[in-house]
Amino acid sequence: MEEIDYLVLQIIIVIFPIFIYQMFFGERFHTMSTNRRKIYGFLFWCSTVLLCMVFPTLITPEHRFDLRLIPITEAFLYGSNGIGLSLSIISLIFRVLINPNGMAAAFLVMSLYVPVVMLIRRTFCKAVQKKRIMIFMAIGVYYFGCSILVSSLLNNFILGHMESTIKFRLFVVIYFVTSWMAVFLIESLMEKVQMRMDLQQAEKMKLLSDLTGVFAHEIRNPMQVVRGFLQLLNEPDLAEGKRNYIQISIDELDRANSIINDFLSFARPSTNETQRVNVENQLDSVVSIMAAYAMSHNVVINTALSKGCLADINAQKFNQCLINLLKNAVESMPCGGEILVTCAPNVDNHLEISVKDQGIGMTKEQLKKLGTPYYTLKDKGTGLGLMVSYQIIHSMKGTIKVESEEGKGTKFTIRLPQIKSF
Ligand code: ADP
Ligand code: MG
Repeated sequence: MEEIDYLVLQIIIVIFPIFIYQMFFGERFHTMSTNRRKIYGFLFWCSTVLLCMVFPTLITPEHRFDLRLIPITEAFLYGSNGIGLSLSIISLIFRVLINPNGMAAAFLVMSLYVPVVMLIRRTFCKAVQKKRIMIFMAIGVYYFGCSILVSSLLNNFILGHMESTIKFRLFVVIYFVTSWMAVFLIESLMEKVQMRMDLQQAEKMKLLSDLTGVFAHEIRNPMQVVRGFLQLLNEPDLAEGKRNYIQISIDELDRANSIINDFLSFARPSTNETQRVNVENQLDSVVSIMAAYAMSHNVVINTALSKGCLADINAQKFNQCLINLLKNAVESMPCGGEILVTCAPNVDNHLEISVKDQGIGMTKEQLKKLGTPYYTLKDKGTGLGLMVSYQIIHSMKGTIKVESEEGKGTKFTIRLPQIKSF
């Protein structure tokens, strides 16, 4: 086969699996467990790397070139350092098997490339799409820099005959074009999958808010009537057993009502009016509202509140968010315990409010799902409390962070922009 044919084959080997992966795994990829995702990723990248190496293009009779660096870089950046590292090692071993010449150079280049790409991975993961594409290309430039440096080092600083050939230059151009195509494809396919998922989620939320808005009112009114009559029936001269039944009915109605409130606060078009309030006073009043509920579960709520914590917030919504957090904290301690609520100004003009419990905590998998609608581990939960709370805090330009350790407890930290004076 002509060398140019091999180059085209290399391009196909690198690009084609991306389509295959998208076709077979696309949306399912997001719902797969991390381990399975890693295994599939590894298999795809590994076969791409090996195929690249089996069909190299010859620049000079001694210089075999292939595009294996592209799938290896993909594995580092889109997979994990572990996958990238194992592919690098596999590619080196395979290189020895098919062509033991020039191993020193290959090894040196790899040892210059691997630590850098491992370090860059973090920045890459946090970057926006455009920057990610640039980082990916920059890694290619760095790799070629390393290979030219190493080969000139091994040749006593004289650039070899190979680097000046037209074929080598063509190879470099093809490398960068294919790199760009690969990373652009991965990014746009990932974006499409994300968009489709967001759309589904938005559709679900819209349906939920439309339905709850209408039904909740219709259900709540008759419920209030029933509750009123039950209270009237609950007279002291009634038999103890019957009074118990009535009390249970009232409690259950209250529970249904609080679920409807959760739904309603989500469905209701929210007014975003804010007032300047003393956050510590607000916290104090919420804690006193929740103290009785906590006591009935053998939980004490302690506070450590700094004075003069001012913020522009919607007090009603803020209370609702805190009640959600405190209720979850109480429910996470079936055998009782302590909740610590703190509030203090932070160095960077923010207020930090935390709710810390000594409850059952959460695993990493559970933490990831927090705040998504209907996510609940409780028999009688709605899975809406945290979603509403997150929405409330975001609407006040704040952030909410969760730290949790299974069996030890959970800490929710809210950060709100601080106001210095009334
Ligand atoms: P619900 O309380 O109705 O289940 P939430 O949205 O308030 O819904 O909470 C969702 C889930 O998050 C809970 O079912 C629970 O598993 C978990 N969770 C929330 N807060 C805590 C906490 N403080 N400790 C342990 N798990 C928690
Ligand atoms: Mg809750």
